[in-house]
Amino acid sequence: MDNNNPIEVTKDKSLIIENGSKIAVIGGGPSGSFFAYFALDFAERMGIEIQIDIYEAKNFHVAGPAGCNHCGGIVSESLVQALSAEGIVLPSNVIRRGIKSYTMHMEQGTTVIETPLREQRIASMFRGFGPLGADDVDSVSFDNYLLQLCEKKGVSLIYEKVIDLERTEVGIDVQTKTNSVSYDLVIGSVGLNPRSFSFFKKITPAFIPPETTKTYICEFKLGHELINQYFGNSMHVFLLNLKNIKFGALIPKGHYVTLVLLGNQIDKEIVDSFLNSDAVKKCFPKEIDIREISPCQCFPSINVKNARYAFSDRVVLIGDSASSKLYKNGIGAAYITAKAAAKAAIFNGVSESDFQKYYQPACTRLNRDNSIGKLIFMVTTIIQKSAVLKRGIFSMVVKEQQKETDKRRMSSVLWDTFTGSAPYTDILMRVLHPATLISLITNTIKGIFNLNNSKNDK
Ligand SMILES: Cc1cc2nc3c(=O)[nH]c(=O)nc-3n(C[C@H](O)[C@H](O)[C@H](O)COP(=O)(O)OP(=O)(O)OC[C@H]3O[C@@H](n4cnc5c(N)ncnc54)[C@H](O)[C@@H]3O)c2cc1C
Repeated sequence: MDNNNPIEVTKDKSLIIENGSKIAVIGGGPSGSFFAYFALDFAERMGIEIQIDIYEAKNFHVAGPAGCNHCGGIVSESLVQALSAEGIVLPSNVIRRGIKSYTMHMEQGTTVIETPLREQRIASMFRGFGPLGADDVDSVSFDNYLLQLCEKKGVSLIYEKVIDLERTEVGIDVQTKTNSVSYDLVIGSVGLNPRSFSFFKKITPAFIPPETTKTYICEFKLGHELINQYFGNSMHVFLLNLKNIKFGALIPKGHYVTLVLLGNQIDKEIVDSFLNSDAVKKCFPKEIDIREISPCQCFPSINVKNARYAFSDRVVLIGDSASSKLYKNGIGAAYITAKAAAKAAIFNGVSESDFQKYYQPACTRLNRDNSIGKLIFMVTTIIQKSAVLKRGIFSMVVKEQQKETDKRRMSSVLWDTFTGSAPYTDILMRVLHPATLISLITNTIKGIFNLNNSKNDK
């Protein structure tokens, strides 16, 4: 042992992961599966054998809410690439459609934004088996695919709800209705479940759960033929001047189109205002009443402010339960936090100070980027309300899309804002680039002139 290294000297041997250590992962969503996947990988590199049990309350083989982790189901291109570099290549029965473009709708018109780098693709998928009544037996849910991947690596899947956690002298007891098992480390990957937070708070008293707001998801069953005709491989996004809505999207997926509304406390009245807008109605066949082809809808919570003190000795919370990415790419954030926690636990230790030193920085980076994200969404809200600015942006994007150039500045800013593919800080830097600002100002002024001229002509 190196006696000059104070960390090595004072390290409590019981707070490290070694041969035979047992880890419980509470929650088999993406963050839980990513943690288990990487922890086993890292343990193998360290030459130690560990046991990991994932506890999951839902059954992802069942259609409807009982087997669904409510989500838009978009995997950003940056995550598709990161996962494939880790050896996780999403198979074709998980991907319900490869998204090649965005169709942007404003009151000022509709334009298509192509993927900035042509070889990049976004995947749309279902987190569960599918909406109520879904019968596509050949398809696999994303969450189930990740769990199966973990099972193949040696993880035990326990399909039971955890009802309590108890700290003991030698570890942490994980309790279900039928059993109580002691573990050396417990991972909180429980999403935004308030009841599960309450027992994590018991063993991690300083933990402050994340803040949330209500969103809306709904599925429309249109069938392949109509989806090909009306949506193709394009995700439709809406920048409309509607109260409380920061972002609305229609995502084609297998036989279905998923509607996602993000904003502040979305309720039925806000949903109706969106569905009744001309821009949305135009996306569907006239003869179809979309409310009659909607088997599933829900108002799930989304993480809008990170948790604090999401770890203590032998406990660490990850994914939505700790830090996510504001409004976008929550699965990408689950991957980042899960991998950071696995690295800290296996290579460094499972004490509070290990997680503070080796895990918290990953969360802090996400949290800082979200502060910039908040600023970007504030500006987006102003833009949504301003016909003049929207006309400027619209004309800039239309012109960029007609050019065969890599410098589609506004298009790439919008693409990354919609997909969550790039950090918000990166997006802000591109918005503030003099060339973007000059082009936006020029297009906005031209728009005002053209409008005045056409008014005078009348
Ligand atoms: C409307 C909406 C749209 C979204 N769209 C996208 C998108 O398109 N792309 C994207 O990347 N992200 C999107 N997100 C965010 C994304 O859904 C989350 O960030 C992501 O699911 C977080 O993964 P997680 O594993 O941390 O939590 P979750 O996916 O919530 O998984 C938590 C799991 O824990 C289980 N669990 C909880 N308590 C217990 C217990 N006591 N015992 C056993 N099991 C338990 C739950 O059953 C669940 O399976 C969206 C979110 C919302 C609300």
